[in-house]
Amino acid sequence: MQYSELAGLYEKLEATSKRLEKTKILADFLKECSAKDVDKIILMVQGLVFPKFEENKIGIASKLVVKALNTATGISSPDIEKSWKKTGDLGLTAEELMKRKRQHTLFSESLSVDKVYKNIRKLAEIEGTGSTDVKMKTISELLTSAKPLETRYIVRLLLEDLRVGLGEGTLRDAIALAYFERKEKKDIDIQNAQGLFGKASELSEIRDKIQQAYDVTNDYAAVAGILMDKGIDYLKKLQLDVFKPVKVMLAQKVKDIDEGFEKVGKPAALEYKYDGFRMLIGKEKDKITIHTRRLENVTKQFPDVVSLIKENVKTESCIIDCEAVGFDAKTKKYVPFQNISQRIKRKYDIDKMSKELPVELNVFDIIYYEGKSMIDEKFENRRKILEKIIKQKELKIRLAEQLITDNKDKAQRFYEKSLNAGNEGIMLKTLNAPYKPGSRVGFMVKLKPVMETLDLVIVAAEWGEGKRAGWLTSFTVACYDEDTDEFLEIGKFGTGIKEKEEEGTSFEELTKLLKPFIISEKGREVIIKPKIVVEIKFEEIQKSPSYSSGYALRFPRLVRIREDRRPDESSALSQIQGMYKEQ
Ligand code: AMP
Repeated sequence: MQYSELAGLYEKLEATSKRLEKTKILADFLKECSAKDVDKIILMVQGLVFPKFEENKIGIASKLVVKALNTATGISSPDIEKSWKKTGDLGLTAEELMKRKRQHTLFSESLSVDKVYKNIRKLAEIEGTGSTDVKMKTISELLTSAKPLETRYIVRLLLEDLRVGLGEGTLRDAIALAYFERKEKKDIDIQNAQGLFGKASELSEIRDKIQQAYDVTNDYAAVAGILMDKGIDYLKKLQLDVFKPVKVMLAQKVKDIDEGFEKVGKPAALEYKYDGFRMLIGKEKDKITIHTRRLENVTKQFPDVVSLIKENVKTESCIIDCEAVGFDAKTKKYVPFQNISQRIKRKYDIDKMSKELPVELNVFDIIYYEGKSMIDEKFENRRKILEKIIKQKELKIRLAEQLITDNKDKAQRFYEKSLNAGNEGIMLKTLNAPYKPGSRVGFMVKLKPVMETLDLVIVAAEWGEGKRAGWLTSFTVACYDEDTDEFLEIGKFGTGIKEKEEEGTSFEELTKLLKPFIISEKGREVIIKPKIVVEIKFEEIQKSPSYSSGYALRFPRLVRIREDRRPDESSALSQIQGMYKEQ
């Protein structure tokens, strides 16, 4: 397939913000794709060339793209940067520059999707001395053979910032619609398609099967590839893979025990809610892999956990879901989440680190056991398996403290006991519910005493002045719109941050973390790629025309950095709308 066709698709998707229209545009495109192209296309419409769970990352800085553009067009880097400041989007800038240089591309061969895909993937493998130069040349070559519109999207693919506004739900629906229309040889008129995915329609059944297959594979490319090539019955063949991460089941929030029971039913399993780092651990014989809830592979960073699992989990194969809580090796006291999160990023001195900041695993679920998926098994049975296979040891590995009850007083006492033991709160879980990867279906809920907080992603900031010069100080945060895959601004915070590192999250730490993601600067203001998620406390949610979400937070302040959250896991716009109504 020609890359110009894909660029045309990107352009159409970008041009509308209506979810149904996007669904139809993508479905029409997929319908015509040959089976061998489908998986590549699905990755690339998500702005990816590697599935999210793969460790390979493109890792190209915008500065390098500027240099490549300079080589490809002969326009000086400062001029490119000037234009980039104006558009705020290096992709658009690249397109404009290429238009100016049109004569260069007139006679070049047309680019194939395959070539763009392979070349961008190749960038991740270039290493060692002189690698920056080789990468720059690879990029400028690609840009030289592209037409202006194509360069817009090549640059955005390189910077992992596609901006066509395609949420996962829309992608799923488009795959379903493409399959349905092709099979039925129908062309659905989207203008009159209200209730297209309504309950109990054939289309909604297809969509649900796609979702199920996605839940266990995390890979729409694989799902769509099999579906379009072989048909819906083959989706069943997609099963959990011990070494691939699964999206973990998420919890809804409740305000008290009563609401908790209401949501999960009675009797329920109550568990301590540990304040640590969620880990999904796969084991097959002696091979162990550890993934975070962001699907990152952190096996190398936790050799101590690998040994723990080998010694204390008695089964050939399993995937367990647990919370790793850090404690101080000397005092044996649990340490705040922030300390343990240092271990995630660590590339050196790993053994030393694992001795100084060991972790205790609190295991609360199992989703794969002895070669079989357990996600449709009842929770109470899954817990029984855990009881059978885990050899518990204090400060090493334990089952989550649990109480099964239908009694409110007992539940209240359990909650208080958990808080007194230094935990965040409790979880309440439905005894006979399956495991639902990636969703907040309400089979487990959390109860915490703190006032409301939101997880928001930082999208802009301001350089400080005077004694804070050199630090980013005021931070604009955004929530996530699941429908459009956009981040919508909801407020600015500058409090809750410390001057000195010892006191908590400092300006310096935030600045260091955010600096690599700066997209553009104008005076003191900087635009930042949505990468870093923070937990924000506030007094109230208000309606506000000043922010793109339509809401603003009163008195927002930083609680902590949420290293364990992906940007698209930040609080959803729909959740904020719900909270606003409730107040
Ligand atoms: P939150 O991060 O506030 O959405 O709360 C849910 C998180 O609590 C999960 O993602 C786990 O990381 C953590 N957690 C701690 N203890 C448990 C438990 N017993 N069961 C489930 N999740 C737990």
